[in-house]
Amino acid sequence: MSTSIRTVALRDNREVPALGLGTWRMGDDARRRAEELRVIQRSIDLGMTLIDTAEIYGDGKSERLVGEAIAGRRDEVFLVTKVAPSHATRDGTIRACEASLKRLGTEAVDLYLLHWIGGTPVEETIAGFEKLRADGKIRGWGVSNFDTSDIIDLPKNAACLADQVLYNPQSRGVEFSLLPECTKRGIAIMAYTPLGQNGRVLRSPVLAAVAERHEATVAQVALAWVLRHPDVIVIPKTSTLARLEENRGAADLTLSDADLAEIDRGFSPPRSKRALEML
Ligand code: NAP
Repeated sequence: MSTSIRTVALRDNREVPALGLGTWRMGDDARRRAEELRVIQRSIDLGMTLIDTAEIYGDGKSERLVGEAIAGRRDEVFLVTKVAPSHATRDGTIRACEASLKRLGTEAVDLYLLHWIGGTPVEETIAGFEKLRADGKIRGWGVSNFDTSDIIDLPKNAACLADQVLYNPQSRGVEFSLLPECTKRGIAIMAYTPLGQNGRVLRSPVLAAVAERHEATVAQVALAWVLRHPDVIVIPKTSTLARLEENRGAADLTLSDADLAEIDRGFSPPRSKRALEML
C-alpha cells in the first residue's frame, strides 16, 4: 500500500508535494497528446499535484496541454511556470505571465520562476514578480539555474521561494554550497532532470544493485535519492502512464545509509565548489 506523498513547506507556509511532474517536451507530438493529458490527470490522482511547465516548452505547447489537462481541477494543482530571460524586464515579465495564464486557462499560477539569468538585472524581474503578486496573478515567485553567488546576490528581503536546478547522482555539484545556502535562507530546491542526462543514471550498475535489494527500479532509486533531502522537491517528466505509476512509487522508498554510501562510491559527492551545471 502506498503512503501519501511527503510535503515540503515553502517559506510562505504553503505545503507542496515533494514529488511532482515535469512537462518539458510534452505537448510537442499531437499523436501523444491523449496519453499525455491522461498522464497529467493521473498525476493529480496520485498526489503528484505539483506540475512544472514553462513558456518556452514547445513555445507554449506544454502550457496549453497542462491547461487542458487541469481544466475543472485547478484547485487541486500547485502550478509552476517560468518566464524566459528574453522577456524578463519588469513589463515583459508581466506580459509573459499574462500570456502563460491564458494558455494555462487560469487566473493565477502558484509559483512563477525566472528560467535562468539573462541580460536583464534580476531586480527588474523581481519588480515584475511583485506587481504580479500584488495583482493576484502569481501566488509567489522563485528562480531557476541560480548558483550560490546568484542566490547571495538577491536583494535583501527578496521573497524568493525556490531555486530549480539540475540535480541527480551524476550532477550533484549543488550539494557543496548551493543546497546549504538555500536551506539556510528557506529557499526550496526543485530538482530537474532527476533521472540524469544521456541515460548514465538509468544505466548505472550501482543504482541497479541498490534497486534489486529493494525490489524497486533504477528510476525509483534515483528519485528516492533526491528525496532523501527533506527540503528538496523533485519533478520527473514522463509521457507514459506506466512510468508515472513507477515514479510515484519512489515516494514510498527510503534508502538506507548503506545504500547512500554505495551510491557515493559510484557517483562521488563534490569536494569543492563546481560551477552550476544546467541544461
Ligand atoms: P527527467 O524527468 O529526469 O527525465 C525524463 C526522461 O526520462 C524522459 O525521456 C522520460 O521518457 C524518461 N523517463 C521518465 N520516467 C522514467 C522511468 N521511470 N524509467 C525510464 N525512463 C523514464 O528529465 P527532464 O524532463 O529534463 O526534467 C524534469 C522536468 O524538469 C522537466 O520536464 C521540466 O519540467 C523541468 N526542467 C527544468 C529545467 C530548467 O532549466 N529549469 C531544465 C530541464 C528540465 P518518457 O516521457 O518517454 O517516459
